[in-house]
Amino acid sequence: MRIFDPHIHMTSRTTDDYAAMHAAGVRALVEPAFWLGQPRTSVESFVDYFDSLIGWERFRSAQFGIAHNCTIALNPKEANDPRCVPVLDLLPRYLAKDGVVAVGEIGFVNMSAAEEKAFARQLELAVEFGLPAMVHTPHRDKHAGTERTLELVSASGIAPGMVVVDHLDEVTVDGAGEAGVWLGFSIYPNTKMSPERMVAILQRRGLERVLVNSAADWGRSDPLLTLRTGEAMLAAGFSSDDVDRVLWRNPVEFYGQSGRLILDVESDVGGASFEGNSILRGEAVQ
Ligand SMILES: [Zn+2]
Repeated sequence: MRIFDPHIHMTSRTTDDYAAMHAAGVRALVEPAFWLGQPRTSVESFVDYFDSLIGWERFRSAQFGIAHNCTIALNPKEANDPRCVPVLDLLPRYLAKDGVVAVGEIGFVNMSAAEEKAFARQLELAVEFGLPAMVHTPHRDKHAGTERTLELVSASGIAPGMVVVDHLDEVTVDGAGEAGVWLGFSIYPNTKMSPERMVAILQRRGLERVLVNSAADWGRSDPLLTLRTGEAMLAAGFSSDDVDRVLWRNPVEFYGQSGRLILDVESDVGGASFEGNSILRGEAVQ
């Protein structure tokens, strides 16, 4: 089984996770820019974070044979902090870089006016740069948040096929499906969406425009839930080709629209060190 995890925050994960993911069949991923738990207090912190997404983390991923792509944005939570909002002016510099395959994560957390303003501006940037948009829907009040999300997407003029609306569930999937956007599902260990519930949605709606991710980050999450979903699909009677479509060809098609998707581990990041740092311990790095 070859797996493309279209939403995972490797910055928060360990080398054990990378090794287990490779053993499970993960060969490519997208790491969306997001918040880090500890709130940031200045634009400079974002500069270092964005640089690490296109530099250090891509290097670290390559050491495990996994192609690393990312999305760049001011996330909805920190869009509420006036100290962070000037990040919006910084985005064009990053949105032109290789391996940056979308504007994201954007969207709503608390549905504040500040979140809406940053969301609308970043949809404009996606149109301007010809990039897909990767949209986070709130975990609380998901129904209203998803409806307002689809209104803003429609008002922005971005093609619905260039948008993935993520963290959907059995209730919100139908409205998103009618809007013509890509349907993102984050599979979690104990709460929210499970592999079995995901399979039931696939049985009801089909495989078209569906992306399945682990959304693993610094919270309770599991980077192998993409594999578990593929296994649950096979157990439910889906074919290997069906699994390949959902776990590989669909994310390649969606993020390939950027024209910048990296699917091979680049040789220039496959060396032993990055800026003098190695993932090895106890061995000299030249
Ligand atoms: Zn995320």
